[in-house]
Amino acid sequence: MLSVPEAEALILKIAQPLTDQEVTSLLEAQQRILAADITSDLDFPYWDNSAMDGYAVRYEDIKACGPDHPAILDVVTEVPAGACPSISLVPGQAARIFTGAMLPQGADTVVMQENTKRQGEQVHILQCPRPQAFVRRRGTYYQAGMSVLQQGTVLTPPDIAILATVQCTNIPVYRRPVVAILSTGSELIAPDQPLQPGQIVDSNRYALAALVQAMGAEVRLLKPVGDQLDALRTAISDAITYADVVISSGGVSVGDYDYVDQVLAELKANIHIRSVAVKPGKPLTVATFSVSQASQPVLYFGLPGNPVSALVSFWRFVQPALRKLSGQAANWRPTFIEARTVQPLTAGGQRETYLWGQLSLKAGHYEFSLAGGSHSSGNLINLAQTNGLAVIPVEHSPVEAGAWVSVMQVGTVNIP
Ligand code: AMP
Ligand code: MG
Repeated sequence: MLSVPEAEALILKIAQPLTDQEVTSLLEAQQRILAADITSDLDFPYWDNSAMDGYAVRYEDIKACGPDHPAILDVVTEVPAGACPSISLVPGQAARIFTGAMLPQGADTVVMQENTKRQGEQVHILQCPRPQAFVRRRGTYYQAGMSVLQQGTVLTPPDIAILATVQCTNIPVYRRPVVAILSTGSELIAPDQPLQPGQIVDSNRYALAALVQAMGAEVRLLKPVGDQLDALRTAISDAITYADVVISSGGVSVGDYDYVDQVLAELKANIHIRSVAVKPGKPLTVATFSVSQASQPVLYFGLPGNPVSALVSFWRFVQPALRKLSGQAANWRPTFIEARTVQPLTAGGQRETYLWGQLSLKAGHYEFSLAGGSHSSGNLINLAQTNGLAVIPVEHSPVEAGAWVSVMQVGTVNIP
């Protein structure tokens, strides 16, 4: 049985980034992962332009002016935003200019409108700004040829603004990983089927699908498979023909009907992990299939069936692997936040324990509040709105109320 850090390290070693690329558009780019460094042959700003509504002037002409002795200049042209000025300013001249408009040749400074007085074809400059005031110089923010966004970046709205600005409209991104999701167990029924005694509604498929979708991967939902070797073999051998990652839940513990490991062995998978010293979620199978020489191995995660165990295993082990496999360059691991626990926390045994609850920001520090109700791995009801799981390392129990604990963040922190 591996420790949690050992399992994490091994999983991150096995998971290799997909290399297939595709091109996407600005409107589809959110959360996609750049497959190349982006550079542009444009400077930014593209050209010298005004940061104010006012007058473009030559600093030399106005440097001695003041409210009592204004500089008086001839207004020889007007440059609205979007226009290309046709006139070059010579001594004694100014151009009426508006925010974002291109600076005429000869001008080097902009005087804001509020510090001027217009009189017919002339303008009185009442106050002298510093030299080059309110001019956004070409190339001060970005110079052509520099790298503007790096390969492996998960694109966010500001990044998309940058891509638009540098006119990168065919954006090279990695293709989305295809993730097949499979539930195993003869007790499982679909949520819309009538419940018969002994049955359980398959909730894992939907929770896992939501998690995978939220990561920007493509979900293939398989039909639930009963605890029969043949059916399981068929389902898994089919899924590995098209998926990059297969996630199953159930059937990985040591019960008579837990067939996942047996099927993986029959299908010649390389089984890397069978169990991890973690609670919830001890049985965890991680395997790879070398399907073809050309493509990289298919990653298989056999998660435990208990709904909480399945989710915790996903957050702790599958999510980092999926981030790396998707082409994300860094930040694969979960985020851990130091928080004060409101309640005392207890964990038994020799396994790193994850206790679910609420992470909030209160009075300048993070606080963890344990979910009420039973902390059984079969109880998914009190998992509602979980955004953090307190991590109790082996032999660190109990933790007193008010003590600091590391909390794995799995959702947005509450700010009451
Ligand atoms: P297993 O890991 O197959 O031994 O399943 C452990 C427990 O999780 C059993 O009580 C199952 O009924 C339950 N379980 C297994 N799969 C699912 C699922 N897809 N959705 C909800 N509960 C499940
Ligand atoms: Mg089962």
